[in-house]
Amino acid sequence: MSERTVYIALGSNLGDRRGNIENALAALAAEQVEIVQRSSLYETAPRDVLDQPWFLNMVAECRTRDFPLQLLARLLRIERELGRDRSGASIPRGPRKIDLDILLFGDAVIAMPRLIVPHPRMLERRFVLEPLAEIAPDLRHPVSRELLASALDKVRDQKIEKLAED
Ligand code: ATP
Ligand code: CA
Ligand code: CA
Repeated sequence: MSERTVYIALGSNLGDRRGNIENALAALAAEQVEIVQRSSLYETAPRDVLDQPWFLNMVAECRTRDFPLQLLARLLRIERELGRDRSGASIPRGPRKIDLDILLFGDAVIAMPRLIVPHPRMLERRFVLEPLAEIAPDLRHPVSRELLASALDKVRDQKIEKLAED
């Protein structure tokens, strides 16, 4: 497959959150998923399951020759290797060491049982749109054609804080 630009969302709210995100980026880079650009880190209030620690979130722009399902399998494996618990004891949308989601895969529109791209909930999440608009302000959503920057304007009531560089 030719090289594609993909945007990956990274999140963590358990253990060494920053370390988990760095380890995931290093694992991707070690597996021919080139990290072209990374957003700042954002500290974000949990949604859905409210009784859990705040998240660290970021978005990375990557280049890969993976097919979409190959990339998904890679992300799920890296999550597992970094200690993500997907046992029956884990709560859906609950605390996790690392979460890796495919937001955009070039301009592809994919609706398979295990993979939906663009990520179906990206437009309603400030913790996705804020870092994405930071590194790719001119991007449009491939289905709605909406500018990410205008989608972001609609979710500014959600609590999120950009972390200073260190
Ligand atoms: P959300 O998808 O709302 O962010 P989540 O990240 O907590 O929730 P997970 O439990 O991590 O959900 O993933 C459940 C399944 O979602 C994965 O096993 C995967 O097959 C599927 N999935 C569908 N579309 C995507 C996508 N674009 N990126 C990552 N996983 C996806
Ligand atoms: Ca997610
Ligand atoms: Ca996920």
